[in-house]
This record gives sequence, structure tokens and C-alpha cells, in this order.
Amino acid sequence: MIFVDSHTHLHFDSFDADRDAVIQRARQAGVGAILTLGTDWASSRCTLEIAQRYDFIFAAAGIHPSEAQRARSEDLRRIQHLAQNHPKIVAIGEIGLDFYRNNGPPENQYRVFRDMLLIARELDLPVVIHSRAAIREIEWFLQEEGFTRLKGVMHCFEGDTLDARFFLDLGMYISFAGNITYKDFSRSQVVKSVPLERLLLETDSPFLPPEPYRGQRNEPAQVKAVARKIAEIHRVSLDAVAQMTTHNARTLFRLPGQEGI
Ligand SMILES: [Zn+2]
Ligand SMILES: [Zn+2]
Repeated sequence: MIFVDSHTHLHFDSFDADRDAVIQRARQAGVGAILTLGTDWASSRCTLEIAQRYDFIFAAAGIHPSEAQRARSEDLRRIQHLAQNHPKIVAIGEIGLDFYRNNGPPENQYRVFRDMLLIARELDLPVVIHSRAAIREIEWFLQEEGFTRLKGVMHCFEGDTLDARFFLDLGMYISFAGNITYKDFSRSQVVKSVPLERLLLETDSPFLPPEPYRGQRNEPAQVKAVARKIAEIHRVSLDAVAQMTTHNARTLFRLPGQEGI
């Protein structure tokens, strides 16, 4: 069984001491591909360097809404240049809106989000969108900006079934992380409402470790716990979830196929 972890941050310093061991553990746990995402210009470069060292790791470059305040216009140009020139960068991300934390004036977030969406469109790359306390604002913004189709994924999905419908209608994928395994997770109906053909798996490591590892550092090897929970909610086999989500990730990010995948 092969799984794809479509959302990690392997550049974080919490992996500095044992990054290679973390990556080897993922391989041993059946993780066939990992997408590691930058959150600003510097980390987008770091993430590419990591991806270049391992054949099954791919990178995304972008500016996270929490970093929008600090981003300079040359950072956007550099990210565009990086994504244009390195085939290991398979997506623009992590981008989006976050009104949960105090990230400065919303205008900065909207401006950077718009610029990143336009870069993705110009380069014909999928987007990885972060939404925290901002799902309706993202829907409104995409409509206002005229995005009637969008290639990408809503990561660690926070919306309800109607929100899920909105993004599915745009042609997007939806991914869930380890928080769906928590006892207080109350949105199983949302997970169920997303067809397997549009689901991706993610760990969002080092964050959101699945039960019973809550509170610890998370890593890509744990992605199977998310798949197991999805299989339970959808009442299908773990193998069916693995096969479909791996196929989805390979399609969306145009990952090279490997034998047996
Ligand atoms: Zn995120
Ligand atoms: Zn993330």
C-alpha cells in the first residue's frame, strides 16, 4: 500500500536534528511521495533543497498568509522565478488567508494571495490553499476575482459540507489532516461528503499529530492514520483509500509514476 503525504513542512527546525531519519521512516511506512511546502521566500528555497536530495520528495513555493505582512515584492518575483526554473516545484503553496491569528491588516493577506494565485495561473501550477477562520472570505474572494475553475487543494479543510461543495465545483481537491482522528472532531459528515476521487491525505507535520500522538511532533510516516480514519468514515477499505488518494495526488501535482503505484 502506497500513501502520499500531500502537505508537510520538512524545512522546520524541529526536523534539523533527525531530518534524514524522519524521511527514511516515511519511506519504510509506505509513503511513496511527499510534498513539502515553503511559507515564505527563504523557506521555499529550503524546501526545494530538501526535495532535490530525495527522488520521492517534491516541493511547493509560496507565501503563507501569516508571512504576508513581511513579504516584499521581490520575494514574489523570486518565488515565481524559482517555480519557473525547477521541475521539483510542483505547486504554489502554501498560500491563503488566516484571520485566526493577528496577521496584520487583511489587505496585505488579500494582496499576496491574489499575486500568488496569478503566478500559479501563469505557470500552470496547482495551488495549495490554507484557510483558518477564513473559509467564506476565500469563497467570496475567488468569486470576486473571477476564478470559476481552480486547480489545487484546500488543505486541512475547515469548512462545512456546503463549503466543500463550493470548492469541489471549482474543480479542487480537499485534504484532511490528523485532526480528523481527534475525539472532539465533529465534522465526519464533511469528510464523508467529499468523494474519494477528490480527497488527498496530509499530515501537516510537524503539526497535528494523529491520536494517540497528540501533543508530539508529527511526521509524514503518520499519514496512514489519516487514511485509516477516512476509510472508516467512508466505509471502504484502507487499500481503496490509499490507491485513490495516491492517484489523486499524482494527477493534481503531475508526479512521476513509480512501479507499483
Ligand atoms: Zn496551513
Ligand atoms: Zn502547512
